[in-house]
Amino acid sequence: MINPGHAVVVGAGIAGTAVGLFLRRIGWRVTVIEARPPRERQLGSHLSLADNGRTVLRDLGLLGTVDAAGTPTDRISFQDHRGREIGSNNQVSTLIRRDRLGEVLREAARRAGVRVVEGERVVGLRDDGHDPVVATLADGSSHGGDLLIGADGVHSHTRRTMFPEHPPARFTGVLDGGGSAPRVDGIAPDGVLRLTFGANAFFGYQALPDGEVVWFQSLLTGEGEVVAGPRAEPMGRWRQRLVELHGSDHPPIPAIIDASIGPIVRWPVHDLVPPERWSRGRMCLVGDAAHAMPPHDGQSSSMALEDALVLARCLAAADDVGDAFGRFQQLRESRVATVAGLARRTGSLKFPTGARERRARDAVLAMFMRAGVAASEDVSRYRLQWPTDSPDPAPSARDRAGRPAARTGPGDPPA
Ligand SMILES: Cc1cc2nc3c(=O)[nH]c(=O)nc-3n(C[C@H](O)[C@H](O)[C@H](O)COP(=O)(O)OP(=O)(O)OC[C@H]3O[C@@H](n4cnc5c(N)ncnc54)[C@H](O)[C@@H]3O)c2cc1C
Repeated sequence: MINPGHAVVVGAGIAGTAVGLFLRRIGWRVTVIEARPPRERQLGSHLSLADNGRTVLRDLGLLGTVDAAGTPTDRISFQDHRGREIGSNNQVSTLIRRDRLGEVLREAARRAGVRVVEGERVVGLRDDGHDPVVATLADGSSHGGDLLIGADGVHSHTRRTMFPEHPPARFTGVLDGGGSAPRVDGIAPDGVLRLTFGANAFFGYQALPDGEVVWFQSLLTGEGEVVAGPRAEPMGRWRQRLVELHGSDHPPIPAIIDASIGPIVRWPVHDLVPPERWSRGRMCLVGDAAHAMPPHDGQSSSMALEDALVLARCLAAADDVGDAFGRFQQLRESRVATVAGLARRTGSLKFPTGARERRARDAVLAMFMRAGVAASEDVSRYRLQWPTDSPDPAPSARDRAGRPAARTGPGDPPA
């Protein structure tokens, strides 16, 4: 058994904070270093947290807090651009702002004794195999640990340091974004997240209990990342452009965009070929740093949460850090590849590049969605459980449709 020591985690996103929480559970001291300063809002809008990710949060005793900070989704309805339902996923999920989920996790990590250092960027890493693994910050100071976890997202500095020859994440040409409208006539809160494979682009929305309509949107653009960067189009013009882009889609999509107030955020979507190895020496990658995938199946945050649980279990079960990291990758690789494959397939249906392609896509959409929804439901029914005496309730043995749900996934290291 590895003697718990001090772990340095780079990045306090979902993966980094969840790793911190699980490592505390097995007795490690943890320092998480985050580049963003406190109170600087994280980019992104709402994300949909699937039931497999919610199960990990339940294990951490945080599901109630996360559900209260977000809004439950009872059903996801998939629609074509005319508004015809072409699929339905009846599993429960949580719609929550990305920065709010981050806050809940960071607060929980602090309460659990994790030291979270914010506003400090890691610019250098050193692992000579003997002395502590060292993360150097921009101001020249450093943090040393017995191991280091790179949870620093899709453009991970840790990954670049560990594997400088590995190709960087690729911009997919897709911009994701979202906004909110205070109220829109005819839309009432009903717990349904509606996702539309629009004529030109993809659109999703749900009404919150107070009537606010939150929405997100994806479009394929030839304009590169500039559209989302500091020289981005002003908000009013961007809103108008989205109204026009969704002009042939069913009501109330254009009206929702038109009624939006506040910022309409947007960010470029990247895809990463995972490195052959996720660890080197005493450094290991988790979450987007290891296997960022396009968010087309709403699973990236759940994959980060699952990673954290499995990594801690591997460290608890192994005699050697290198073995634990190797086992972690072995247990996670095929699960993550399956989910990434699904996300890419769903993404390929979202952006027809012309009228002919759209007709061809629409002709097969319902059939694809039947298979796609079944596969997505299977992904979210996957259950990881902590084997020790967790004080938190174990996940339900049945899903909402009454089917057996507590299937422990192949990502389970021996207890
Ligand atoms: C800009 C952006 C917006 C997104 N918005 C959404 C959304 O609205 N809906 C959705 O479903 N998914 C969204 N995602 C995807 C989703 O949040 C992630 O896939 C998922 O949360 C996995 O999280 P992670 O912790 O692995 O990575 P991240 O959430 O990217 O967290 C990595 C963290 O590491 C920090 N960091 C990076 N480099 C360093 C460094 N050198 N030193 C210290 N800290 C560092 C970053 O500031 C960040 O906080 C978004 C992703 C990005 C990049």
